[in-house]
Amino acid sequence: MIEKQSPALATKILANRREAQALINTLAKPILPHLINGEECQSSDGRTFDNFSPYDGALLNTTALGGKRDIKAASSAASAAFKGWREWPAGERQDVLHALADRLEANAEAIALLETADTGQPLRFTTKTAVRGAENFRYFADLCNQATDGRSYSSPTHLNYTMRDPIGPIGAITPWNMPFMLATWKIAPALASGCTVVHKPAEWSPLSAALLGKIALEAGLPAGVLNVVHGVGEEAGLALTQDPNIKAIAFVGGTTTGAHIMAQAAPSLKRVHFELGGKSPVIVFSDADLDRAVDAVTFMIFSLNGQRCNAGSRLLVEHSIHDQFVERLVQRAKSIQVGNPFSPATEIGPLIHARQLTKVSEYCERAKAAGATVQCGGIPKNNPELSTQGHWFMPMIITGVTSGMEISREEVFGPLLVVTPFKDEAEALSLANDSRYGLSTYLWTENVGRAHRLARSFQAGMVWVNTEIARNLATPFGGMKDSGIGRDGGDWSFDFYMETRNVCVAIGNHHVPKIGKA
Ligand code: NAD
Repeated sequence: MIEKQSPALATKILANRREAQALINTLAKPILPHLINGEECQSSDGRTFDNFSPYDGALLNTTALGGKRDIKAASSAASAAFKGWREWPAGERQDVLHALADRLEANAEAIALLETADTGQPLRFTTKTAVRGAENFRYFADLCNQATDGRSYSSPTHLNYTMRDPIGPIGAITPWNMPFMLATWKIAPALASGCTVVHKPAEWSPLSAALLGKIALEAGLPAGVLNVVHGVGEEAGLALTQDPNIKAIAFVGGTTTGAHIMAQAAPSLKRVHFELGGKSPVIVFSDADLDRAVDAVTFMIFSLNGQRCNAGSRLLVEHSIHDQFVERLVQRAKSIQVGNPFSPATEIGPLIHARQLTKVSEYCERAKAAGATVQCGGIPKNNPELSTQGHWFMPMIITGVTSGMEISREEVFGPLLVVTPFKDEAEALSLANDSRYGLSTYLWTENVGRAHRLARSFQAGMVWVNTEIARNLATPFGGMKDSGIGRDGGDWSFDFYMETRNVCVAIGNHHVPKIGKA
C-alpha cells in the first residue's frame, strides 16, 4: 500500500481517512437521513442500503433507501414551500444563496473528505469541489434580480413584452462522478429562479448531497425549498419523474437513463433537461503546440479517472505525428500517480465501484479481440502499492482503433483513451462527427482559419480550441445528439427553470377585423 512508502505520508493519509470517517459518522448518525421539509428523517418503511469505500471496500455508512412515499412527502413539501419561496424578493434570495456559498467555502475541507471517501476521487481534485460549488451559487445568486426579466418587441401597432416565472418544484437527479459539483450546478439556478427542489443523488455517492442539504438549511433556506431523498434510480428516481407535483426534471447521467426518464415523465408532460454521455474527440494536427496538447489530452482523459462526461476519450491524431505523439502520451500515462485518494500525492484513485471496473475491463478485452493494441494500462497485477480490495485500473491507451469499433463508439467512462490516425482535415472532421454523441470536441492546431472552419462544422455542443475544458458560467453547457437536451449556464438555465409569458398590448387604434357586421 502507498501508505508504507513514507511514514510522514502514511500519517497524513491515515489522519485524512480518520477525519473523513468521523465526518461520515456525524452526518449519518447512524443512518444517513433524507431531508424532507427541513427535517432529517428515515424512509417511511425503514429500509436502508449500504455505502462502501471504492478504495478498500470498507463499509462507509448505511443510507436511508427512499421509495415512492418518501418522494411524495418531499414533493409535497417542495410544492408547499414553492408558494412562499417564489414570492421572496430577489435581493433576499440572492442574500441567502450567498450565505449558502459562504458556508460551502467554510466547509470546503469536510466536503472534500466526504467526496473522496465516497467516490475515490483524489483529494487534489475534491479540495476544489466546494469552491466550484460555491461559485455556482454566487453566480446564479447575482442573477436573481434578472431572472424574471424578459424582452420587448414593438411594431407600429403593438408592443409585446415577455416575463418569466419560476416553473415550480423541480426534480434534480444527479450521477456519482462529480456528485457535489453537479448537484450545485442544477440546484443553484433552480433556487435562483424561485423554484423549489427535490434532489435524488446517485446511490453510489450519497454523502455530499446530505451535507449540502444540511448546509443550505443552516444558511437560512426555508424548510421544503431544498429536499434530498436518497435511493436507487429505478425506484426513488422513477417516482420523482412521475410525481405530479414536480414540474420539470433536471437530469445528469447516462444516455440510456435519459431515455427512460423521458418516457417515465411523458404522461405528466414534464419538461426535461438532459446532460448525458459523451465520446468526445480530441483532434491533434501536426502544426499544434504538441507540448501543450500532450498536457491537455492526458488531463482530459485521465484526471477524475476518465469518469467525466467531457472526457476527451477519442484521440484523432494526424498520421505524420501519430507514433511520436502516442509515445509521449504513453510515457505520461505510465507516470501518473495512482493510489490512495487520501494522499496529497495521488493523481488517480480507484474507480467508483466493482461494476464500473468490470465494465471498463470488459470494453478493453473486446477491443483487443477486435484487433486493437493496448499500449499501456489495465488492471494491475500484484501491485503491493495498491489496496487489494480497491477498484484499480491503470491509465490505458489503445491504438489501432478504427471508427467502426465498439471501443471508439461507446462511452467507457473510465481512464481509457483510444487513438485513431487521420490523413487530412476532411478525414479528421468526418471521424470527429462519426458518433451518436455530440458533447464536446477538442481541437489542437495553430492554423487559425482551420480552427474556425472546423469549429463551425463539429457536431458538438461545446468546441474547445487549444484548451482543455475551461468553464465560464455565462456560456452554454450541454450536448447535441445523444449527449443531451438543453443548455445550462447564464440565461439558458433560467429558460429551463422558468415559464415565459408574452404580453401583447395595442398602443393605438389599429384596425380590428370585423365579422358578422354588414
Ligand atoms: P446513471 O444514468 O446510471 O445514473 C444517474 C442518476 O440517475 C442516478 O442518480 C440514478 O439513481 C438515476 N437513475 C437511474 N435510473 C433511473 C430511472 N429509471 N429514473 C430516474 N432516475 C434514474 O449515470 P451514472 O452512472 O450515475 O453517471 C455516469 C453517466 O453520467 C455517464 O454517462 C456520464 O457521461 C453522465 N454525465 C453527464 C454529464 C454531462 O454534463 N453531460 C455530467 C456528468 C455525468
